[in-house]
Amino acid sequence: MNDLPRQRNVENQAEGAAFAPVVMKFGGTSVQDAAALRRASKLVKRRLDLHPVLVISALAKVTDQLLSAGKLAAQGNEDSAKGILQTLKQRHEHLVSELVTGDESNELLAFLHQEFEAAEKLIHSIAAEGGFSPRAQDHLLGLGESFSSRIAALALRQSGLDTVWVDAKQCIITDAVHTQATPLWDDTNERLERHVGPLVKAGRIPVLGGFMGCTRDGIPTTLGRGGSDFSAAILGAGLQACRIEIWTDVDGIMTTDPRLCPDARRVPKMNFQEAAELAYFGAKVLHPATLLPAKRRNIPVWVLNSKNPESNGTEIVADTDESGRVKAVTAKRGISVVDVEPVRWLAPELLREIFEVFEKHHHGLDLLSASPNSMSLLVSSTAGLPVIAEELKGLAHLRWENHKALVSLVGEKIRRRPEIASQVFSSVADIEMRMICQGASERNISFLVDESQAEEAVRRLHKIFFSSQEAQPEVVQYQGLCQAGGSWQ
Ligand code: ASP
Ligand code: MG
Repeated sequence: MNDLPRQRNVENQAEGAAFAPVVMKFGGTSVQDAAALRRASKLVKRRLDLHPVLVISALAKVTDQLLSAGKLAAQGNEDSAKGILQTLKQRHEHLVSELVTGDESNELLAFLHQEFEAAEKLIHSIAAEGGFSPRAQDHLLGLGESFSSRIAALALRQSGLDTVWVDAKQCIITDAVHTQATPLWDDTNERLERHVGPLVKAGRIPVLGGFMGCTRDGIPTTLGRGGSDFSAAILGAGLQACRIEIWTDVDGIMTTDPRLCPDARRVPKMNFQEAAELAYFGAKVLHPATLLPAKRRNIPVWVLNSKNPESNGTEIVADTDESGRVKAVTAKRGISVVDVEPVRWLAPELLREIFEVFEKHHHGLDLLSASPNSMSLLVSSTAGLPVIAEELKGLAHLRWENHKALVSLVGEKIRRRPEIASQVFSSVADIEMRMICQGASERNISFLVDESQAEEAVRRLHKIFFSSQEAQPEVVQYQGLCQAGGSWQ
C-alpha cells in the first residue's frame, strides 16, 4: 500500500507548527451524560492556548445498542429494534434538554428527530432484507458518533467555547472495507487541511465524530470498533498536532486489568511499540491501529482520565530510556488455534497460498508458529474457517481448537533478559501451555493457555513483576509541551 501519510515539505511544516493543535479525543464514558460533558468543557478550557481539536465517541454503550438493533432487525424482530432506537432517542434528547437552550436546542432536536427517522428507515430495510450487511452496519453504527458529536459541539459552545461541528465523513476518506476501513491518506490529509486547518487558524474549536469515515463515493464507513482513537491519530497526523490526548475513564495504561489484579498500577511512560503490542495483545485502552499515524509523525500520545484529570496518565513517545523491563501483562481471550498440516510439505508456495486464502476471506491472523511439517495459526474468529478449510482441501488439512487465551508480557527488549523468561515459565509451570510464541519482536513473551487458566496465569505473573517493584518515578505531565505559555490551572 502506498497510502502512507503524505510527507509535507519543510515550508509547510514551519507554517503548520505555529498552529500545531492538541487533538483531544473523548471516549464514550467521557461524554456519556451532562456531568461528563461539563467535565469535558473544563478540560478543553485548560487547553485553549494549544488550539484544541475535538474527537467525540458515541455516548457510552450506544454503539453496542445500535449493533443489537441491527442484528434484531435482521432476525425479523423489527419492533424490538425500533424499541432500542426509541430509548436511544430519548437519552439523546434528554442530554440536549440538560445542556443546550434556546433556538440552538430546537434546531438540534429537529436534527435528531430527522436522524432517528432515517435510522428507523434503515432498520426497516434491514428487516425487509433479512440481512445486516457490513455496509448497513457502518451506516447504522456511525449514527452514534453523529449524534454525540453534534450534541457535544453545541453543549460546549453554550458553555463558552467557540466550537464548530465538522462532519467527519467529509474529512476521513477511506477505502470501502466496511466495518474495518482504512484511510486514504492523501485524500484525508487534503480534506483536513481544507475543512479543519482554517478553523484552527481562526482560533475556533472543531468538533468531529470519531470512528466514522466515508468512501470517495460518499458511502459511510467505520474504522473498526474502538476506532475513535484511530480518528484522533489520523487527525493528529494530518494536522501535525503537538500531542494527541485520549481522554478515558481510567488513569492511563495499567500494568494489567485492574479487575483481575486490584494492585494493577498505572504505567507512566512507554514507547509506541510497547503500547501497540499491548493494544494488540488485549489491553482494552487503545485501539491497536491508533498509534501508527502518531508514530510516523512522532506525535506524543497521552492516555488520561477525564474523571481524574490530576492523575498524570500514560505518556506514549518514540523513545523511553527504560528497557529490559516488563511494562504490563495482558490476556487476549477468544483465541482459536488452527493447525495446518500440508498434504506434502510446507513449501513456500503453499505458505503463500494459505495466506492468500485467509486474506481473500478477510480473516485476520494473530500469530503463527511453524515447523517443517506443520504450522499453527492463531485467530480471533473462527467464522470463516470452514470455507477456508474447504478451499485449501487437497493442499492442507485444517483443524482448530477454540477457547484459548494468549497471555503476554510486554516490555522493550525483555527478550534479551533470559532471566525474565525463566521466571515466567517457572511461575506457570503447572499450567498447561499449548504453545509458546517466539515472535519476531524482542518486546514480548507470549504463550497460549486454555481460557479457563488465563486469569490465574496473569495474576501470578503480575505478582512476580509488579508487587515487589518500587513505585516508578513519576513523570510530570505538563512539562516539555510543544508550546510555551499554556495555562494549566
Ligand atoms: N463508538 C465506537 C465503538 O464503541 C468507537 C469508539 O468509541 O471508539 O466502537
Ligand atoms: Mg470507546
